[in-house]
Amino acid sequence: MAKYVFVTGGVVSGLGKGITASSLALLLKSRGYKVFMQKFDPYINVDPGTMSPFQHGEVFVTADGSETDLDLGHYERFIDEELNYTSNITTGKIYSSVIEKERRGDYLGATVQIVPHITNEIKNKVYEAGITSGADIVITEIGGTIGDIESQAFIEALRQIGNEKGKEDTFFVHTTLVPFIYGSDELKTKPTQHSVIELRSLGIQPDMIVTRSPIALDNHLKSKIALYCSIPKEHIIDSVDVKNIYQIPINYYNQGADEIILEQFGMEKKKANLKEWKKLIDVTDNLDKEIEIALVGKYVELHDAYLSVAESLRHAGYKYHTKININWVDSEMLEQGADLKKVFKNTKGIIVPGGFGERGIEGMIKAITYARENDIPFLGICLGMQLAVIEFARNVCGIKEANSREFDDVCPEPVIDLMAEQKNIINMGGTLRLGNYDCRIQKGTLAYDDYKCEHIKERHRHRYEFNNEYREILEKKGLVFSGINEASNLVEIAELPGKKHFIGCQFHPEFKSRPTKCHPLFDSFIKASIK
Ligand code: GLN
Repeated sequence: MAKYVFVTGGVVSGLGKGITASSLALLLKSRGYKVFMQKFDPYINVDPGTMSPFQHGEVFVTADGSETDLDLGHYERFIDEELNYTSNITTGKIYSSVIEKERRGDYLGATVQIVPHITNEIKNKVYEAGITSGADIVITEIGGTIGDIESQAFIEALRQIGNEKGKEDTFFVHTTLVPFIYGSDELKTKPTQHSVIELRSLGIQPDMIVTRSPIALDNHLKSKIALYCSIPKEHIIDSVDVKNIYQIPINYYNQGADEIILEQFGMEKKKANLKEWKKLIDVTDNLDKEIEIALVGKYVELHDAYLSVAESLRHAGYKYHTKININWVDSEMLEQGADLKKVFKNTKGIIVPGGFGERGIEGMIKAITYARENDIPFLGICLGMQLAVIEFARNVCGIKEANSREFDDVCPEPVIDLMAEQKNIINMGGTLRLGNYDCRIQKGTLAYDDYKCEHIKERHRHRYEFNNEYREILEKKGLVFSGINEASNLVEIAELPGKKHFIGCQFHPEFKSRPTKCHPLFDSFIKASIK
């Protein structure tokens, strides 16, 4: 039977709850326990798939094709485990399921209510994650801030789980902000005290408080929080601001955070193996080179919209002891006539990541032309690959009207077209081509050099595909389709030989990159850019 750790947040959002949850999970895993992670998002959308990246940041796609919150990306990068549909639960999912059961008559005449029906559904999701994962410990993060109306049913469900299972099987971590007041130059614990009062009024007594602050709390402040919040002083864990998020697990480890959890669970404190992680920190703290990579997209104002791509670039940089400075290029600015030479003056590689809709497309295509003509290493991801193909068709093959049906429904030369299986779909949510699909790689190509094997699986999230009617003419002009999904004959990778590095993939490699193990496509892109 699994044990359950719950991570809540107080005072403000954006405290790094996801990183706290991931760090604790990493530490418990490093002691030889199987961990699984889960996030509750109290919004009414069934999943973030239909939300604008400006609202929500990137949508992280799991191997089983679930569209999930970006915190799951942190989880996977920290614990290096594949998560799945049980890992991201929203209010929308809970209510859909309860209403479906009600319509089926499953409740046998009962009046269906928030307590117990909604809370039971939430509790089942927690237990389901424990059972299906076979984990020793499941860590569940609750999105939002304590006191939000939206999250109340979730908090009530956790209270009930705590009550049912008791202290040996449940552990509550509450993360709060301890602000520094300039002038009097001191840290203030009052917001933490009030947040814990709020949490206790909902029936939950925290077992650990993680305090986010610009500097560490002294003994006196910890004693004060301990006294007001009825918690041992040692259970207050400093989470001081860091430059590099991968440092955080080590900071928690040094304060014994994972041992406190194991102690309460009555689990053996096996020796932690953090060798690989410490090696990573040593590398990230001592990067002795740097290069600029341009990321061209339309959501660049919000860097979280490209979180996994940015992380993947950094991971590949670590391998070469190189700091990656991202030049965030707004594709609309390129459209409006910005001087590309100036924009890319210091750029050593250009990446065009995924995206949806027509806005900014021509600017991305301009950037691709610039990369191809000036032989700047290029990596196109999903939309980026589709645009590289359009660019090649227009400017090398002379198919001037080449486009994607996504941007022009009546386009005469649809080199990118709607996938056949998408044609009769009406609902937008959860209906893209999602998750893992096979890809066969042709030997003797850049892609094969990268992966060093013929059969791979990568994660997808798209509705459009390369139109095979154009394959022959593009191949004749030199484009190589080096990766194919054989079941559907769908192009997965396209590359241009004779260049320093020019490759695009229909899938999203960024979801599989890890800080200690960068993804082969990012590896070769960064390697070429450094050269
Ligand atoms: N908009 C494109 C499609 O749906 C690309 C999607 C993406 O980049 N994730 O096919």
